[in-house]
Amino acid sequence: MQFNSRYPTLNPKLYHQQDPSPLHGAKAGHFNQALAEQLNWSEQDQAAWVEICSGQKTFAEFPPLAMVYAGHQFGQWAGQLGDGRGLLIAQILDKNNQTIDLHLKGAGLTPYSRMGDGRAVLRSTIREYLAGHALNSLGIPASNAVGFTSSDQGVQREKLERGAMLLRTSDCHIRLGHFEWINQYQADLLPEFTQKCIEWHYPECLSAEQPILAFATRVIQRTAVMISHWQLVGFAHGVMNTDNLNITGSTLDFGPFGFMERFRPHWINNHSDHQGRYAYQNQPSMGHWNLWQWLNNLVPLCPEGYDKEQWKQDLAACLEHFEPTFLEHYKFGLAEKMGLPSFHKDSFDCAMAFLRILQSEQLDYTQSFIRLQNQDYTALLDDCLDRRQFESFLSQYHSIREHQDIEALNQRMTEVNPHYILRNHMAQKAIELAEGNDFSEVERLFKLLSTPFSQQPELERAEDLAPLPSDQPELVVSCSS
Ligand code: AMP
Ligand code: MG
Repeated sequence: MQFNSRYPTLNPKLYHQQDPSPLHGAKAGHFNQALAEQLNWSEQDQAAWVEICSGQKTFAEFPPLAMVYAGHQFGQWAGQLGDGRGLLIAQILDKNNQTIDLHLKGAGLTPYSRMGDGRAVLRSTIREYLAGHALNSLGIPASNAVGFTSSDQGVQREKLERGAMLLRTSDCHIRLGHFEWINQYQADLLPEFTQKCIEWHYPECLSAEQPILAFATRVIQRTAVMISHWQLVGFAHGVMNTDNLNITGSTLDFGPFGFMERFRPHWINNHSDHQGRYAYQNQPSMGHWNLWQWLNNLVPLCPEGYDKEQWKQDLAACLEHFEPTFLEHYKFGLAEKMGLPSFHKDSFDCAMAFLRILQSEQLDYTQSFIRLQNQDYTALLDDCLDRRQFESFLSQYHSIREHQDIEALNQRMTEVNPHYILRNHMAQKAIELAEGNDFSEVERLFKLLSTPFSQQPELERAEDLAPLPSDQPELVVSCSS
């Protein structure tokens, strides 16, 4: 590994140095060898992956640390939070010379654990491991993981579960909530911290006339793009608090996430989210809300000689980039998924007609796009109670596609419509087997989700392709993990 320690150069008030507390009887769960190679792990590192991913081996080059941050949770100011059960154990260079954080989740108590036990359970570890892999394979900016370990040590949740640790990777663990903490508790650190964030993550902004405004705009744009990816693939993050969004627009801390199956825009995947604040359809506006909160923390950074009111207005104007950026990416992506030309004036309208059918007929989001891609219109029609609605959509669809470069549009559909997503019941099956030390289903899903855009008949099972029958109760996923 080639270390590039950046976070430890910050003021020590921003973190607490400490070693992981390993669990008893740690053993291999799953290892992402391709990612380890991308991260330039030597053969020796790879051979020691279980020790590294269970907190038994740390690195002299990088004393592990817990970061402090704050946040707004479910719309309320929550004060100081911080890494309550995770430690940054290294920052290393990958094959593209990009700095990647290695963050060990479930590594024990820290000063920021509050009422928690500092642990992660096998169930949520497997969910995060497979979802990170799925999102990355889908081309969506997201954290990933080099591997996870399981253990014999029990961890109490609603019931006693197996403890586990996940070695998460991300280009950035600096959250919107970092700025909230600094602004609230240690405002003197704000200028230097912001400067470092720009240098590390947005160096192109350094040469802008107002680097902070350029930085704010880029963070806003990247977050908007990330959320457009989520909406297109049907991903619901589940807990979009300001401490769970980072400043590079890569998906992070998706505990009670879900990939939508039957198309229900108001779907709430996180059962702790009683109000539906983070329902699928609210994600763009919640992203906007979080960024608005975040921008407030940049107000004290008004440059010398700059009119204070003007500075506030100019910061607020950065947020005006959110909606157009989101819509541009969402509309373009949706047209691609539909096999429609993005420049045609009726494409978005036609895509909306399709989504309305999926909603009213409660059809599976992922498979319906695959059927459209396969031109299996009969199968779609046969699933519709309101046949006229579908026929009217289809005639608009054909009329837009007439005289277009159909081959290119169809080709693009195959590149953007996944056959496989991580359905909750798929993850659940893998978890149940893993609880009994059988990781074969984790391995199968890992392989299946590695290339989600190509069909893999030798690996796939019927249940990978459909939601559970509607008379079976939905799996309950909550914040408790
Ligand atoms: P989350 O919403 O899961 O990202 O967590 C919110 C905050 O609670 C973060 O500061 C976490 O570090 C902390 N936290 C969550 N679970 C635990 C736990 N089991 N032990 C200690 N801290 C936790
Ligand atoms: Mg979190």
